Amino acid sequence: MENLGSWAVICGAAYLILYVLPMTVEIVQSSKFNPAYPSARLVLKEALRSARGVILCTAYDVLVNEGTRRGQLPMFRWSVLSENVATVTATEVIVVGVALYLWGDFHFYWSHRSLHQPTLFRWVHKVHHESYNPDPLSGLSMHPIESLVYFSSCVLLAPVVPLWVFRVFKVSLILAPINGHAGHGSWEDLAGTHHYIHHAKFNWNYGSSPLWDRLCGTVFDEARLSQVKEKAQLQAALAMEQARLCGAVVVDGKRSAPKETTEGAAADHSKADSAPHGHYNLRTRNRH
Ligand SMILES: [Zn+2]
Ligand SMILES: [Zn+2]
Repeated sequence: MENLGSWAVICGAAYLILYVLPMTVEIVQSSKFNPAYPSARLVLKEALRSARGVILCTAYDVLVNEGTRRGQLPMFRWSVLSENVATVTATEVIVVGVALYLWGDFHFYWSHRSLHQPTLFRWVHKVHHESYNPDPLSGLSMHPIESLVYFSSCVLLAPVVPLWVFRVFKVSLILAPINGHAGHGSWEDLAGTHHYIHHAKFNWNYGSSPLWDRLCGTVFDEARLSQVKEKAQLQAALAMEQARLCGAVVVDGKRSAPKETTEGAAADHSKADSAPHGHYNLRTRNRH
């Protein structure tokens, strides 16, 4: 329950602040990469899929805790690494933090890139890419097989690290995707736009950071990024101009942003050269 609870509280708070509460939405709206907002139907699907993913992670968690209780885990002990969290030093925190970041980035890049093989994409990873214009709830919105692959990175460590390291890594795997899928940020921040671009362009930026993409030539570079940025801005301007010319009101509850209506459309676009999409829902105002 603690896994599901911490995910629900932090992810729910991020979604409320960025997508629901009018006061905060208005403040951050200008930093949204794609001016469209996902439909409530898609957001509900994302929430249920994410909750299922966290439950699968908890199943891994139970197995590792049981193995530790029985004295079967870890199988290898580092003489320089504290077994008990109460005796952990600042140096250990830094070294473990860097090592976990590098391992997580390596595991995510190669497992994610494998999921983009046509068959695996069609049967498994397509579910995650239904969120082509991501929000905080998109992060763990995965097919159950992908959830098991994603969280396997912490289980694979369990035989060789103390339980506290496993727990730290598990929590980071649950919470870190919220940031990469927030859908807000600065176009000037390449690391911040990295995973957003993956959702918009599909066959670039497989890593959680640009490291492996740069090494393997799959990074969506600055020249291409500027095209996406210009296209997104152009689409937003055209939608607003269209609304103004036809006397239409852009409808999305209490917000004034355009609303997308085709959340499933991206599912078959694995090879599409698609910039951030602009499917807008405009309702004509009655003139008297
Ligand atoms: Zn994603
Ligand atoms: Zn992908």
